[in-house]
Formats: sequence, structure tokens, C-alpha cells
Amino acid sequence: MSAAADTGAVAFAERLLTLLDEASYSTTYKFAVVLGLLDLCIETAEASGAPTTMLTTRQLADKVVQIYWPQTREFVEGNASLVLRQSNTGQAEIVSLVRKFRERHLDAATASLHQARAADASAYERLVEKVEWKLIEMPLPRLQRLGNTDEPFIYRIAWDEHITQGAVRDYQRTGRGFDNRILILDGAAEHLVQFGPLLRPLLRRHFADRILRYNRSVLSDPGIEAFLFDTQRTPAAPIRRALHELQSGACFYCRLSLTGAKTEVDHFIPWARYPDDSLANLVLAHHGCNNDKRHYLAAADHLTRWRRRQDDEAKGLRDAASECDWPHEPERTLSVARSVYLHLPQSARLWQARGTFVPIDTALVREALLGA
Ligand SMILES: [Zn+2]
Repeated sequence: MSAAADTGAVAFAERLLTLLDEASYSTTYKFAVVLGLLDLCIETAEASGAPTTMLTTRQLADKVVQIYWPQTREFVEGNASLVLRQSNTGQAEIVSLVRKFRERHLDAATASLHQARAADASAYERLVEKVEWKLIEMPLPRLQRLGNTDEPFIYRIAWDEHITQGAVRDYQRTGRGFDNRILILDGAAEHLVQFGPLLRPLLRRHFADRILRYNRSVLSDPGIEAFLFDTQRTPAAPIRRALHELQSGACFYCRLSLTGAKTEVDHFIPWARYPDDSLANLVLAHHGCNNDKRHYLAAADHLTRWRRRQDDEAKGLRDAASECDWPHEPERTLSVARSVYLHLPQSARLWQARGTFVPIDTALVREALLGA
């Protein structure tokens, strides 16, 4: 390997692969933590599009709950119906905590996290605090250990595995006494964002393989991945109606009328890049347009219109979301768009229309996302 390949992106990728393959873990936590860090690096981009340099244990706990949420539904296969094990000794504690919170909800099987959180904000708060402690205690200090040595390549933290729960409890009560920062190392956030589309499927595969191993007696189905991660919800009729109205009855992409046509709700930032079901990320399109766009990123002029909709229809979007009890976090969605679009290479090709791709118009992209 050349000296140049020993630093930067290649070294980072190499190190991450080693981490995924490392077998000494007895739970699925490391996958949840790395997926969580990946998502957070994408969604917390600064207004300039620059990736973040600091996250908190609290942010990560929130994200990890979100990742485990769909996985704490009961999995049904044949006559068996159970919550899948995520540890080689009984159940992983974080999974039990999330499951307990889910069971507080009347509609435990189908509730979205958005609904459950809204229904019981203080129980959610307690859940996140417990999960935060678990992450501080175990996976975070151990994750970057290679053999017996700590070799940080994603983040630095100010504590090790000897941290006491008392100290963390004080900090959770008073905000003091514990340094909750996860300092992202130079270049690491950039690498995570850029490798995101490659990393995400790889992480999910490893995550699912581990769960298959812990549940060998009941599981054989490789389709398990869809159960664990495929949480794209089919937007309800009121969401479609609201989008239809916001777009004045025209397809978001080709601008032709949707009347009488088969329509689909499209994730503007593709699900494969970052899983965002919130309303700001949804547009209504012809079945044909949506099907052709698939996992591609839309061209700069679509991005411009999409960005303008955030501003011009802010109230309409907000009202529709609250009417349908649908998640809507326009600031986060905008950060995601910045992360994804502003880190594309010059050679990127974007989807313009059925069968048509265009070079990236960097000036227009920057104008749309930075108002420059
Ligand atoms: Zn169309």
C-alpha cells in the first residue's frame, strides 16, 4: 500500500471494515452506534454545509432509540412471534428498554416513534437518559479499540469505561459534572458523509447477520433486513392530498398534471442516502417519474424548487403535518440536503427527467442550499 493510501479516506475505510468484522462484541450495539454516528453527521451539518465537529451522548442516545424502534416490534415467523434477541446472553439492555417504552403505548405493534414520543414525553425522556448511560458505559469507550489499544479514528471522548453511573446521573440532572461531547476527528465526518451510500447497506447487512446469529433457532429468512430497517411508511391519504394541494395538482418533477394518473410519494433525498420520512422530504410525483428517479439525486433546478417550497409553503407543510400527526423537521431535512449535495464530486450526474441525467450545477446547488 502506498504511503498516501495510509492516511485519509482509504485508511478510514480500512479501519471501519476492521471494526465491523471484529467479533468480540456480545450485542449489536456497535452497529447501532456507527449507524447513529453516520446519521448524525449527515443531519447536523452546519449551515455552510461543513460537517459537524461535535456531537453529544444525548444526541446519540436519541438516535439509537430511533434505530432500535422498528426492531422492537414482534417478529412473526410461522407460529413464532417474538422480539428478536440482540445479545448472545438474553436480551440486550437497550433493546429491552426501548421495548418497554413501546409497550406503554396502546398500539404497541404499530405505533410510530413520533406518536409514542408525543403521547408520553416524560417516559421518553427517561428512556433516552437510560440509553445514554448504557452508551457511555459500554460501547463508546470500547468501540475504537483494536486489540488492547485505543486507536481513535472517528471520535474522541473524555472518559473511559471506569466512568460511574453516579457522575452521569448528576450530569443528567444538572447538566454539569460530565463532559458529554463526542468530538469528531478531523476528516471523519466528511468520510462518513461521503461513504454514506456505501456504508449504510454494509452496516445493515452486518447488523442483520448478527441478529440472525443470535436468533438462529427461530430465524432463517434473509428477508429479515426488510423487517429490521425498512421503516418507510406508506403516507396516508391525507398526506397525499396535502402534497397534491401544495403542488397545485402537478407532478413535482415533470410539472404535468397528476389528475387521473397513478401517483407516488417520492423521498426527495433518496431513502438510500438518508432515511427521512418527514414531510419536508416528501413530494408527489407520477408513478413513472418516481420509478425512473429511484435512488438518484434530483438535479439542481428540482432542488431549487424543493428548497423554495420549504420557505413559501412553510405554513402549509406545518399544518398538514400536525393535521396528519406526521413527523416534520424542516431544519433537519435541510441539513441532510446540505450534507448530501454539498459533498458531491464535480463528476456527479444528477437525475433531471425520465432517462435524462445532467452534470451537477454547483453554483445553482449552492444558491439553493446556502442562499449564496
Ligand atoms: Zn411526472
